[in-house]
Amino acid sequence: MTVDEHDADLVPLSDRLAVLLIARLAIAASVIIAVGVVGDVVVDPSGTVELAAVLYAGVTTAVELTRRKLGWRGLLAVSALLVVDGIFLAFVVGQTGGRDSLLTFLIYFHIVAVTLVASYRTGLKVAVWHALLMVGGSSAVVAYYLRGEDPAFDGAAAFRASTLLVLAIGAAAFSSLNERGLNHSRRQIQSLLDLSSDFEREEWPEEICAVLAVHVHRRMRFRRALVVAEEGGRLIGAVADDAACVWFEAPTSAGEAGGVVAECRRTGAPRLVRALDPSADPLVDRLLPFAHNVVAVPMLANGAPVGVLLAEWAGGRWSGLPASTLATLVQSAGHAAMSLRTRLLLGEVDRLARHDGLTGLCNRTEFDGALERELSRAQRTGDPLALVLVDLDHFKAVNDTHGHQTGDEVLRQVGAGLEQLVRREDVAARYGGEEFVVLLPGVDAAGGVAFAERVRSGLREAVDAVALTVSAGVASYPENALDVDALVGRADAALYAAKRGGRDRVVASDVSTRPAVVADAG
Ligand code: GH3
Ligand code: MG
Ligand code: MG
Repeated sequence: MTVDEHDADLVPLSDRLAVLLIARLAIAASVIIAVGVVGDVVVDPSGTVELAAVLYAGVTTAVELTRRKLGWRGLLAVSALLVVDGIFLAFVVGQTGGRDSLLTFLIYFHIVAVTLVASYRTGLKVAVWHALLMVGGSSAVVAYYLRGEDPAFDGAAAFRASTLLVLAIGAAAFSSLNERGLNHSRRQIQSLLDLSSDFEREEWPEEICAVLAVHVHRRMRFRRALVVAEEGGRLIGAVADDAACVWFEAPTSAGEAGGVVAECRRTGAPRLVRALDPSADPLVDRLLPFAHNVVAVPMLANGAPVGVLLAEWAGGRWSGLPASTLATLVQSAGHAAMSLRTRLLLGEVDRLARHDGLTGLCNRTEFDGALERELSRAQRTGDPLALVLVDLDHFKAVNDTHGHQTGDEVLRQVGAGLEQLVRREDVAARYGGEEFVVLLPGVDAAGGVAFAERVRSGLREAVDAVALTVSAGVASYPENALDVDALVGRADAALYAAKRGGRDRVVASDVSTRPAVVADAG
């Protein structure tokens, strides 16, 4: 006899056991009242039943209090008390008339209490135990000790025992329906909680899509699941089936046709699709070929669509798709949408914190970090590192003559021009106002000057809003400087020299870090 099937239940075991104790005290009180107050109806020839009831109340209370105090999970104590219940009830019924006792109802009451409070399985076991006591124990005892008859099979007691079992099976059947419903809800809540904490653990939007796709395929038993989300002008997502879970990336245009993904995003409502139209949904057709019976669920975060979940139902007909499964699908997609949006917003905040809003290049903070990192690496590896400072010539006049909006457009065109000129490993940043900086790992002073010349001529072509020239100063590690401050200072001084020299030119730092060779006088 265990109540462990309720371990993870919504009502804690401890509360259930407290209710069982109250039921026991009620049984003991009923016995005392029946025998003591209406003693002419319920006869107790031995005069021991009231004492037994007091003892029973004391023992069950003491065991329950001890269990609580010592913090036992208490399955042993619970089982032992169910045995005590059986013996006490058999004793009371036996002493007050056996099969004819008016207190037999207490046995029924006990079975119902255990079935509803503990579980229907425990109730069934208790019923079997009571029936055994009744047939094998109580009737024999009553027959032999109280009536002086020979112990023999008592047909009436057996009949009552059978009614006990019928009652228990009936109560168990009704209660199991409720328990099944409760357990189902509990599993669904738990599975949503697990899903949410899985989302929390993932760092990248693609991973959140993959967690949702795997959850829908494996745990919700859909044949295949596809998650499509939009991130920074492209489509990302994951598709899960029996073989694997695969991430994908596609241009936004792939999902823009009048297909189910676009429609689901637009309406914000789930849709059931019997067969996908490959021409309307080429991306979905490629990722879920020959998909049938697809549930399309929008992934809504605060009402805004961030993606779409497509789940292929394994059952042959829609009628087999339970409403609760659809509800769970919608909830799962909602949880994923919230996590996805948080990640996308964090990614955007991170990008904004590291980039300049006007030109899209790295900002000063990001550049300072990159400079520290690249210089340390150069110092470790012995590779050179060139730094080029670029300043637009007479930019104030551009603003004054053409207006600030044109000035901004020129700055954007300079940013785009620099992006075209740098290699992957270079770092181009807006250093301030109309001043730009480029870090060239592995490039020495001569290479830096060559790059700056390319910038000077390249920007002239990249900027078409006005006729623009730029000046540049170049310094490199280790030829002109050995630390970050000196490197920037030397490039700045070279830039200043370029401006003083007449602008539209490149000047390299003339400071050398090599010790000067002193001619030997001797
Ligand atoms: P020089 O050749 O000596 O560099 O002359 P300059 O006019 O380029 O230099 P100055 O430092 O006198 O002026 C820089 C101008 O850049 C002043 C400022 O209004 C403009 N500026 C700085 N940031 C922005 C911006 O974000 N947008 C626009 N439109 N102008 C900017
Ligand atoms: Mg300038
Ligand atoms: Mg300037």
